[in-house]
Amino acid sequence: MGVKEVVSGMYQLSNGGINAFLIDDGDAGLTLIDSGYPKDAEAITEGIREIGRDLSDLTNILITHAHPDHLGSAKQLSGGTTPISLHPGDADIAKAGVYQLTMKPGPGILNGVMFRLVMRKKPSEFPAFQPDIDLKDGDVIDVAGGIEVIHTPGHTAGHVALLWKKDAGLLFVGDAAANLAGLNYMIGYDDVPEGKESLTKLSGLDFEAAVFGHGKPILSGASDKFGAKFT
Ligand SMILES: [Zn+2]
Repeated sequence: MGVKEVVSGMYQLSNGGINAFLIDDGDAGLTLIDSGYPKDAEAITEGIREIGRDLSDLTNILITHAHPDHLGSAKQLSGGTTPISLHPGDADIAKAGVYQLTMKPGPGILNGVMFRLVMRKKPSEFPAFQPDIDLKDGDVIDVAGGIEVIHTPGHTAGHVALLWKKDAGLLFVGDAAANLAGLNYMIGYDDVPEGKESLTKLSGLDFEAAVFGHGKPILSGASDKFGAKFT
């Protein structure tokens, strides 16, 4: 798993096109945002060691949405002690431990083609869990100066983006959008019009930087770029 410091104290862990993130809040501990596939638990643990920390320093696991490449390792990494936070709209998938494709292709020809190529039609299994904390729109999580929960349904019903109030703002976009070959809609959405509405909502916020479940970070002018693309 590649570990890269995106901004001071925040790291992107990347493995096979999937990103998770770590915020190092010093004595207050580590917060993990998303957790890769079930097979990624070991690599994430290794990534934590690479930044000079230990899995036992993990105090929070925040999940943007209940897809296997985002919540896959949550239960293993939690070890039954670190609380896992998820929006209630996605809790049924977490509790079932299985994801069955319900998405339709995202807007654009490229997403249509990619969707047919890469989306797995068979059910995907992962270690099931009961979320410990419900994330709700407008909640501010008391981590590293505050992280606001923005409910952004569309990709899934319970998808959230997380707005970290650090510096000029950093948005954890999850899969509300992607930044693979440039900023674009995600490859698939459960509800495409709702996903577009959520991107309009995000475009109205103020954030300098943005990081994505899939693709490269945007380090400056991120909310302006969202506004230009999605409104
Ligand atoms: Zn997803």
